[in-house]
Amino acid sequence: DPTLLWLRRDLRLADHAALLAAVDEGPVIPIYILDDDTPKHRKMGGASRWWLHHSLASLDKKLRDKGARLILRRGVAAEVLAELAEQTGAKRVHCLSHYEPWWRNAEHAVARKLDLVCHDGNYLSPPGTITTGAGQPYKIYTPFWRALNEHMPPPPPRPAPDAIPAPNHWPDSDRLADWQLLPTKPDWAGGFAKEWTPGEGGAHERLADFLPHAVDYDTGRNLPSDELTSRLSPHLHHGEISPATVWHHVLKAKGDATIYLKEIAWRDYAQNVILQYPDYGRENGRPNLDTLAWRTGAEAKADLEAWQQGRTGYPIVDAGMRQLWTSGWMHNRVRMITASFLIKHLLIDWRRGEEWFWDCLVDADYGSNTVNWQWTAGTGIDANMFSRIMAPLTQSAKFDAADYIREWVPELAGLGDAAIHDPDESGCRPRDYPAKIIGHREGRERALAAMKRTR
Ligand code: FAD
Repeated sequence: DPTLLWLRRDLRLADHAALLAAVDEGPVIPIYILDDDTPKHRKMGGASRWWLHHSLASLDKKLRDKGARLILRRGVAAEVLAELAEQTGAKRVHCLSHYEPWWRNAEHAVARKLDLVCHDGNYLSPPGTITTGAGQPYKIYTPFWRALNEHMPPPPPRPAPDAIPAPNHWPDSDRLADWQLLPTKPDWAGGFAKEWTPGEGGAHERLADFLPHAVDYDTGRNLPSDELTSRLSPHLHHGEISPATVWHHVLKAKGDATIYLKEIAWRDYAQNVILQYPDYGRENGRPNLDTLAWRTGAEAKADLEAWQQGRTGYPIVDAGMRQLWTSGWMHNRVRMITASFLIKHLLIDWRRGEEWFWDCLVDADYGSNTVNWQWTAGTGIDANMFSRIMAPLTQSAKFDAADYIREWVPELAGLGDAAIHDPDESGCRPRDYPAKIIGHREGRERALAAMKRTR
């Protein structure tokens, strides 16, 4: 009898414990289920769907090279898997564990109907296993990192199987094109293909491109104009490369890789947080901030749109928001600046920003996105405070964002380094670029006053 391999955000063949376990048992039927029902309001966003389309196409090719293929089905995972087991006579399902609350629910639902075996491998250490001496999960990142690092390195990555035994009959599959994952009109994802190659091959190329520059990461990672970060986030999110693979390669290339490894460990930390707080995307980690009077109404709505479209009059914010829209990704330093600007200067609920990122990022990840938004907001379970307000203009100059702004805000391309961070102040704002939507001091004071009024 064949076994089912249930694939989700683990679209790779190398270092895939569930695939290896399934191959050991005989014929394997790999299946991807497009399940828009189970996640409810957390349905995959537009940019993620673009990525998924290309990643599935790539995975099917790789599977065919090994004698298998990818079966595509749509619906609620537990029902689709039960039906497929019935059709094929499969007795067991293998998968890698995922920690989004809806995926954990889906795993329970599948396990009620079928023999489901969940394996580790999407994280450096299985979420939930790194605990304090008293056996409690960590809330704060730094002690979490110290404890995680005690368990490192992760097990060495295992290669893809040489061949994947096929069943006598392949069950029916949907056609990928019929899922309509790609945007049609307008094709806002036109710029994505220039930047990204979804799939396992693309992930390994991206890693190989990064390794020779990995030595510059520690000094350059905060400079948006220099492209010195790895840009592996969408590949890691979709599971096209395992974090253990990245860990071992970066360590070898860099010798002391602590700063990089500490970043990739944030990904693990975020999963540990959503495991403790499954509603982290909706509920403040600090309930006292539930009484914060976020701005709502027509004016706030117009401000939110200006932020989304990159028309705030703050060049670093606008550059970031346009990079996000055009390429599906944004530099980490600029993610912090744009998020802080929405939450503090515009006093708009962090959840509106999180939703926008969820829809626009090719690396949109429930854990990483909600944890970083709550961290920036100062509403989270971590130590960061709401009253910490980033100064976008100072950040822009300090991290030398002039070239980054020239790239993404072409109206400002003619301005010199001194003037470009704050065209209003320098008196050289071009007519086609908006004035600041709110003054820095005014925004800051409004946010602090709102904070003071919380109970
Ligand atoms: P590198 O600097 O090369 O880091 C290597 C890897 O480490 C990344 O690929 C990523 O997987 C992980 N990583 C690094 N920093 C973080 C972090 N702060 N939190 C979690 N993982 C991290 N990252 C996402 O993957 N998905 C998201 O939805 C997401 N939303 C964010 C929202 C906000 C408001 C902020 C401030 C950050 C968010 N991040 C998110 C974290 C971070 O910005 C990206 O992971 C990073 O920019 C990806 O670029 P890179 O691969 O070049 O990173």
